[in-house]
Amino acid sequence: MTLGHDDLAIAERCLKNRAQWADEAPVTAFERAFAEWNGSRHAFAFLGGRVAFSACLAALELPAGTEVIVPGYTCVVVPNAIRFAGAVPVFCDIELETYGPDVTDVARRITSRTGVLLLHHLFGLVCRDYDALIELARRRGLRVIEDCAHATGAEDQGVKVGRRGDLAFYSTERSKVLNTIRGGLAVTDDEELARGLAAYAERAPRPAPAEVERCLRTVRIVHDRAWHPRRGLARRWAQFRDGRHEAVSTTSGEIRGERPTDYGQRLPAPLAELGLNQLAKLDQLSVERRRTAVRWDAWCRAMGYAPPFVREGSLPVFLRYPVLVEAERKRDGGWARRELGIDLGVWFVSPIHPAPFSLPDCPRAMEAVQRCVNFPTLLPSGASPE
Ligand SMILES: *Cc1c(COP(=O)(O)O)cnc(C)c1O
Repeated sequence: MTLGHDDLAIAERCLKNRAQWADEAPVTAFERAFAEWNGSRHAFAFLGGRVAFSACLAALELPAGTEVIVPGYTCVVVPNAIRFAGAVPVFCDIELETYGPDVTDVARRITSRTGVLLLHHLFGLVCRDYDALIELARRRGLRVIEDCAHATGAEDQGVKVGRRGDLAFYSTERSKVLNTIRGGLAVTDDEELARGLAAYAERAPRPAPAEVERCLRTVRIVHDRAWHPRRGLARRWAQFRDGRHEAVSTTSGEIRGERPTDYGQRLPAPLAELGLNQLAKLDQLSVERRRTAVRWDAWCRAMGYAPPFVREGSLPVFLRYPVLVEAERKRDGGWARRELGIDLGVWFVSPIHPAPFSLPDCPRAMEAVQRCVNFPTLLPSGASPE
């Protein structure tokens, strides 16, 4: 939970200032600030990480039918964006140390039609095979896009993730480390690819005012849920006032693979303002997440589980703290609330989360689906890993 009283104040002010919802200046300011903070030359903001990914694919101008290798342990919106771009997702297996693409398995999926490798840094961990994947892609002439949806701010050898591929995208959806309810950014250091991203951003429609309003009201809902955990009346009032206006990140149609009619939009000014405020707090929150991770490490040792693998020279942001437990312990997660006072994360419930698909050709991804649970790293007061 990253939304504080300051974020709520921004949302309240924006709700009263509809005339400014179409302003360009806050969006440009957010893009500049993000690019500078990330160390990237160019950044472009959209209404979702999936849209930022679509912009990356568009910038590459892929011939129809190009194969994009993608980890078979991801969000359904990722293969969707590949299909929407006229390309073909080819799933590869993951390793079970950081849940990134396994380089040996990636190599075996490359064909004459492969054009792109999508690698990801899940749960805020830098993926184990980072160097080997980049090197393999360079050797085989593939473009690389980094899915940094979970890992905004994570570093490897002192450089933030998303700088080594040709392009990268980040999510600022409400469950991620930088939260604008809905949103995402695409970055690149390459001038020609930047022109492609800029062209996509220029064509991108603005969200309808009703959607901007939903996102701003969702700030209120999420804030009140977190800050009034025991004040039943305040929570019920917030739910009554705003509940039916809560923003939806992924529609049931998208889970079935359909392209929403309003797909591909730009980030609106009020959410860019939230993004700017969140960005200023992000490094401190990441310190706090890493501190909680140390406590979860101790819990793992006490319980006989392996702590997550941290690549040498990397600095994770621990969006969540992933652990492989017995399949029965994942299926019945009630113990986490009883014993630890937390809600157990079940990402992912399928290899193409949350779509009910199976990938028998990716056995380690299927094992992670059975066994990987993840713990929160910004703990509500009262919860404890010890
Ligand atoms: C959340 C997520 C995305 C998409 O981001 P949105 O902002 O929700 O569109 C992409 N990849 C992964 C791994 C994610 O978890």
